[in-house]
Amino acid sequence: MLHVISVPAFSDNYIWLLSNEEKKYAAIVDPGDAQVVLEALEQQQMQAIAILITHHHSDHIGGIAKLLHKYPDIPVYGPAGESIPNIHYPLDANKPIYLDKLDLNFDILDIPGHTVGHIAYYHADENAKSLFCGDTLFANGCGRVFDGSLKDLHDSLQQIAALPEDTLIYCAHEYTLDNIGFAKWVEPDNQDLDLRQQACWELVDNNHATVPSKLALELKTNPFLRTHIPTVIARAEEVANRKLNSASEVFAVLRIWKDTEYD
Ligand SMILES: [Zn+2]
Repeated sequence: MLHVISVPAFSDNYIWLLSNEEKKYAAIVDPGDAQVVLEALEQQQMQAIAILITHHHSDHIGGIAKLLHKYPDIPVYGPAGESIPNIHYPLDANKPIYLDKLDLNFDILDIPGHTVGHIAYYHADENAKSLFCGDTLFANGCGRVFDGSLKDLHDSLQQIAALPEDTLIYCAHEYTLDNIGFAKWVEPDNQDLDLRQQACWELVDNNHATVPSKLALELKTNPFLRTHIPTVIARAEEVANRKLNSASEVFAVLRIWKDTEYD
């Protein structure tokens, strides 16, 4: 059974330690900073057994070399479609992985868009379904397009939206309140957004993370997963000042609007 520990890094990143009920070994997702990971492993009295990378950005891979210095024999998994130093096992959607020391399987999702080869790791067991999706889907938002495309990012978000609704979304940044602010530009009358904002304020006020979130909540409040909803389409058409003919076009208008006027 998967057990997840969050390790805050830099100003707003989350690095995830994946363990099981033994809490003896850990796989590390996107170690941008080795030092905070080494401290967390020591505090938890856990031993690193693998590194899982979602994409090539430095705040996700910056700690790999230092972790390999301390744990020279552990495997590093990462996207086949990106060039990243020290990746031993390039992955794509056809290559699920099994971490034997944890007795855990992960399916791989190809989710390009934020970057061209971005992947996610998905695990389901009797306790929970969990997705580690890097910078693709954020709590109440999504990543920017760097070297991928808007069309690919929308397709990737649709792929995530089709997962079971009780999937826990472990994204890599604490951006939720900021994302809710933009979502209210898109859907000022969405009462689920007001409720989510209230709940997030309370979490943040008490020094709690707003991540992970459930996919079901994302489907109700995240505008980038709601590009088929009539009020969202109407708002995007108002912003673009033209008729939009597909969910993908609605997505592109929202993403560019956020990039240019909100962020
Ligand atoms: Zn990134």
